[in-house]
Amino acid sequence: MATASDDPTPGAIARWFGARFTRGLAIAPLPASALRFLVGPSLVCRTRLSFTGLSGLQTVEAWRLRFGEVFGPCKGGVRFHPGVDEGNLTALAARILLKCAVNGLPHGGAAGGVAVDPSALGAAGRVALARAYVTAYADLIGGDRDILSPDVGTDAGLMAVMSETLDTLRRRFEPAAINGKPPGRGGVPGRHGATARGAFSVLDELLENGTSAEGGALTGVTMAVQGFGAAGSTFALEAARRGARMVAAADSSACLRAETGLPVDALVAFKAGGRAFSTFEHPGVTVVAREDVFTTSADWLVCAALGGAIDGRVAGEVRCGLIVELANGAVDDAGDAVLQSRGVTVVPDVVVNAGGITVSHFEWVVGRTGAPLTAEEVAARLDLRMRETARRLRQTATATGVPLTVAAQLLAIDRLHAALESRI
Ligand code: NAD
Repeated sequence: MATASDDPTPGAIARWFGARFTRGLAIAPLPASALRFLVGPSLVCRTRLSFTGLSGLQTVEAWRLRFGEVFGPCKGGVRFHPGVDEGNLTALAARILLKCAVNGLPHGGAAGGVAVDPSALGAAGRVALARAYVTAYADLIGGDRDILSPDVGTDAGLMAVMSETLDTLRRRFEPAAINGKPPGRGGVPGRHGATARGAFSVLDELLENGTSAEGGALTGVTMAVQGFGAAGSTFALEAARRGARMVAAADSSACLRAETGLPVDALVAFKAGGRAFSTFEHPGVTVVAREDVFTTSADWLVCAALGGAIDGRVAGEVRCGLIVELANGAVDDAGDAVLQSRGVTVVPDVVVNAGGITVSHFEWVVGRTGAPLTAEEVAARLDLRMRETARRLRQTATATGVPLTVAAQLLAIDRLHAALESRI
């Protein structure tokens, strides 16, 4: 029996893929038979996990879900965050599917996570949770089925734990099943910072060499960065290396501001010590509310925290000309509409933050073939792929007259159509 969630109309599909996708479909419609692949996740597995944390035995809700094995085995992050639920994971998996489509990667979308605050677990608790997660989902995970990677609240160390756990359960090595492992434990060199490096390849290409890798190319450009974790901090370091001035940076505790420029190296070292910006002290740096990052006057606003950061209200208040959407879904549909009316350019997540998934894909290839890559090979391949996608994005936006956010959907729709054509 058909249900409302089987409704293959563009309006219903927007629930997971967003208004950008619907706008893309209005320009390049997909047949209803193709849209049926996109109505919702193909698999949702909800579990109550038990593990031993700092406060003894804990039970938490966990999920693993897949969205469209259209191009190949699914791939997606594992998120440890109190806000994790089935709805936001489904939207995340749909976005990964789009990202793979836009960037020509042979994977479907997946996502998973645990509704928990990882900072309250302690290191041993996080390891116990990582083991419990993989043990619960071992039958779903695999290089030919569903490939795990780090996301908010998980990192390379936890990926190594997950990989060891899976190998132990299977009694064989399965390096392709878990990506984002540290180099030396099956990971590829250069995964850390790949998202930021990939973003600069894209920005370089889109802004017609405005960001070129040479030191000093961003001299005079000011930036505000929301989120100072793996993605935000490596982006900030690379921006500073190129001469940009970081005038604001926020973590979940506070926003730091300095008109003359924040000491980026010191901030990275400070965060590596696990400390909160609200306790940072430095001459010339003021501590303000974390939301103040959005109203800081800067050329670029880099969103590297969580999805939905820029809604219609925040979009009306931002004081920048360009938003770099490092966080998946950083700008919501209402935010997009307001930013477009205000002439603010958004460089879309599915292109600008694809460096991480692209290098993850390289790691999957290495895991399957056994042929290692050097750091130089990883960097060169990443740059090539990201620039190629950025060029297609720019050409599509120019040819159709739509914003980059919608042009990215047209690239995805084109590839989805080609892949689904043979099945409909
Ligand atoms: P992370 O957990 O390492 O960092 C997240 C940061 O955001 C932390 O500094 C946290 O304090 C901060 N934060 C959380 N809520 C905030 C708020 N309300 N205001 C200000 N700061 C806030 O995560 P990450 O890996 O850097 O990922 C960040 C985003 O980028 C996520 O949306 C993720 O999906 C996306 N992303 C990351 C990668 C990657 O390679 N790390 C790749 C693609 C996309």
